[in-house]
This record gives sequence, structure tokens and C-alpha cells, in this order.
Amino acid sequence: MVTVEIVAIGNEILIGDVLDTNTHWLCQQITGLGGHVRRATLVRDEVPAIAEVLRQAVERGTDVIFTTGGLGPTADDMTLQAVALAAGVPLEEHAEALRLVREKYEELAAKGYVAQAGLTPERRKMALLPRGAMALHNPVGAAPGVLLTIESTTLIVLPGVPPEMKGIFTTSLQPTLQELFGESVFVERVMVVECGDESVLAPLVNQVAAAHPEVYVKSRAKAYGPGVRLKVTFSLAGRDRSQVEQAVSRALDDLRTSLDEAGIAVVSVE
Ligand code: ATP
Ligand code: MG
Repeated sequence: MVTVEIVAIGNEILIGDVLDTNTHWLCQQITGLGGHVRRATLVRDEVPAIAEVLRQAVERGTDVIFTTGGLGPTADDMTLQAVALAAGVPLEEHAEALRLVREKYEELAAKGYVAQAGLTPERRKMALLPRGAMALHNPVGAAPGVLLTIESTTLIVLPGVPPEMKGIFTTSLQPTLQELFGESVFVERVMVVECGDESVLAPLVNQVAAAHPEVYVKSRAKAYGPGVRLKVTFSLAGRDRSQVEQAVSRALDDLRTSLDEAGIAVVSVE
């Protein structure tokens, strides 16, 4: 399974000004692609702190790291400095990134969104990439995304502004995602159970989870009061769809059998 870590960067998150919705969105996307997000970290805009988090993720053998935030033109955006430090390479002007930034400002100037096209030092800063990196076109904002391999880890560096982060993810990053996660699948089935008391269901769910350790089995209350129902979710990611589906079905069938024996009705399975 493709292991993933997410690093959300920004003082605004850690002072409680901004809710980190980027991690949540990326978790949904990566899970849907069949990847396994095993850790997510929030870190301030500090070069040594960011570099340390990245180094640790690389040393854990993480297949893919996503970062969000700190790519903009201002001095407090220092993610790429940290990436360069973690990779042990210098930052240098990147021809393709410079072209992307120049084109973006020409487009913004033509629309009247910025007063002038042309490259200022602040705009050039967004084209300073770690040596060996690839620039990813940003369809929404100015700062390109960045792709870099560090040892056996693919590092994907995305902007903090959610529409920009999503914009790159859903367009210029797609070929890379296809390569990284191409053959992975994610299967999720949901069983709704007529049971008002999760503590009654818990031992049955735990037994099934222990018998099928590869499948993630989780129960959640669906409603409270009379006619209470509980939702049990079974999910698994892997490379072979039929194997993944079979493993999920086996766990589901096991729970159905023990519910039958306990006299608990199954309302639906989707
Ligand atoms: P910019 O080019 O706009 O400066 P950036 O990549 O430098 O982009 P940041 O400066 O880190 O991004 O963040 C810009 C804004 O994006 C933040 O003020 C915040 O509103 C939003 N943002 C940043 N990180 C997150 C996050 N993890 N979740 C949700 N929103 C975020
Ligand atoms: Mg910024």
C-alpha cells in the first residue's frame, strides 16, 4: 500500500486563526485513491521545524509526502527553503517555474487584477525551487506546486490557499497521482444495524475486526432515541479490486452471522 504523510504548514493554523481543512480534503482524496495516510502534522512557518518533519517522514520510508502552505511571495512563506534543506540541495531559479509565474502575472494584468505584469523580486521568489524539482502549473494562483524526489520519497508541495491546492491536485498533479496510486483501489461498505446500544454491538464488531485485521471496521451511532440505528463501516485499500472486495465481504458476512446469532437485525448494507 502507498504510505502517505501530510504536513500542513502555517502559523495561522497553529495560532487558531485558520482551520486546517487542507489535511481533511487531502485525506479524503488519498483514501479514495487507495493510499494509506498514516500521519499528519501541523507545523509553523519555521525552516528548521519544517525540514525536521520532512526528514523524519523520509526516514520512516514514507512513499509520498504532501505539504500545503508557505509557497507565496512573502518572506514568511519559507516552505521551499525547508524542502531544500531537507533534501540537501540548493534553491535555484527554475526556468519552467519562472515561465509559469510570468505567464500567470501576464494573465492577471490582462484581466486588470494586478497593476503590472513582469517579474518583481517577490514574483521571482516563487520560481526559486530546490534543485532537481519539477514545477506544477497552478490553474488558480501564481505559485506553482513543486514535485521533488528525496531518497525513495516523492514530495508534493502545494499552496495553502484551498482552491489553489485543490486546483493543482485535480489538474497538473493528476499524471503523477496516476503513476503513484494508479493501481490502488479503495472499497467501503456500510451496514446499518437496528441496535440502540453501541456497547452491545462493540464486542461483536471487535471480534470481526480482530478476525480480519486487514479490514478497517468501525461502528458509529446513526441516531439516538427510539428506533436507534448504528452504522458499521468496513473499508480496505489495495491493488487488486476483487481481492479487496472479497476481504471486505468476508468481514461483512462474519458480522452478519454474529448479529443473527445475537438477534440483532440488519437494516441495510450498501
Ligand atoms: P499564497 O501564495 O496565497 O501566500 P501560500 O501557499 O503561501 O499561498 P499560505 O500563505 O500558507 O499559503 O496560506 C494562505 C492562506 O490559505 C491562509 O491565510 C489560509 O487562509 C489558507 N490556508 C493555509 N493553509 C491552510 C490549511 N491547511 N487549511 C485551510 N486553509 C489554509
Ligand atoms: Mg502565503
